[in-house]
Amino acid sequence: MTSEAIKRLTQQYVMNTYGRFPVALDHGEGATLCDPEGREYIDFTSGIGVSALGYGNQPWAEAIAAQVQKLGHTSNLFYTEPPAKLAELLCKRTGESAVFFANGGGEANEGMIKLARKYSFDRYGRGRSTIVTLENSFHGRTITTLKATGQEVFHNYFFPFTEGFRYARANDLESLKAQDQGDVCAVMVELVQGEGGVLPLEKDYVKAVEALCAEKDWLLLVDEVQTGVGRTGTLFAFQQYDLLPDVVSFAKGIAGGLPMSGILANEKCRDVLGPGMHATTFGANPVCAAAGLAVQEILSDEFLKEVREKGAYLRRGIEALDLPCFGRTRGLGLMIGVEVKEGWTNKDIANRLVENGLLILTAGPGMRLLPPLVITKEEMDKGLAIMKKILA
Ligand SMILES: *Cc1c(COP(=O)(O)O)cnc(C)c1O
Repeated sequence: MTSEAIKRLTQQYVMNTYGRFPVALDHGEGATLCDPEGREYIDFTSGIGVSALGYGNQPWAEAIAAQVQKLGHTSNLFYTEPPAKLAELLCKRTGESAVFFANGGGEANEGMIKLARKYSFDRYGRGRSTIVTLENSFHGRTITTLKATGQEVFHNYFFPFTEGFRYARANDLESLKAQDQGDVCAVMVELVQGEGGVLPLEKDYVKAVEALCAEKDWLLLVDEVQTGVGRTGTLFAFQQYDLLPDVVSFAKGIAGGLPMSGILANEKCRDVLGPGMHATTFGANPVCAAAGLAVQEILSDEFLKEVREKGAYLRRGIEALDLPCFGRTRGLGLMIGVEVKEGWTNKDIANRLVENGLLILTAGPGMRLLPPLVITKEEMDKGLAIMKKILA
């Protein structure tokens, strides 16, 4: 099918809930994608932080093919090998204690919220169920995680939302303490706010939040749906913040492009949810888990070091272009935000770049770059050259 035919069919039969770029994609190699007509695009998006290994990755594709030929799905009423091995790896590489697998980021966060409320219920009974999240956060699109999201624009249309969320200003411990009305059970944060604009939390603040949580017996919940799985240059961002969260959620990059998510809990929290209390039909799917194992295989310490180096290279490259529309860059690893100067709009800039062969994201008022972690220097240079040509 041609790009035009795909677009027409989509517009006729798929609900119009996404602000799409006018581009259809067909195949790819590394961090380079092609449309059906063979036009090339350098990818600084990874399908919103998902395709960590880029496109056409052979070990990943072979792991999926081998597993799908053996067994595609069994339900969680039986044991299978791939999710058990993936859970073991994730625990051993993080110091966490046990995993619950789900399918998407919002769903993983729902599990984290349920776990926190159950933990508090077990110890203190009812009435201690409020979760404090941060202003400008993003935690998902379910009725509950929309309310957990600390941005008013998301609290619309779908009333009534789930009760029990309050919001504190990021990097402001007093603002968090002010939310303590005796009913709090947990604090939930993104260590680098993703959708909000690629805003890393300050390390001192995060350590102070951890100490406050320990003092009050609030659980520290970290949403690593976007920051996890190597994106920031360590397997999880919390490892750069010197933390061991009580519970941490992951999704996007975990299976390199297949739908999978989950939560990791520490020793204190691993048994809070018992049989029958939490479940999902597709969770721990063996094909997704086999893909996840292929991702873990590639994310060695050496590879993660290269992610940090590539992130630094790309940020330096963008700043060196000294484009009239861009200010400073920020971020961690290959999760990069670029400030857009007054008088310019990030959506217009993104449209112009995409039209000219560079796929890029926006977040908050700025640009956001989440390239595949396997992106090469040549591909980064091609992307920078497109920026220079189009935006100088
Ligand atoms: C993307 C994202 C989510 C939602 O994930 P879905 O898979 O779209 O449900 C939640 N939290 C953060 C931090 C995200 O970046």
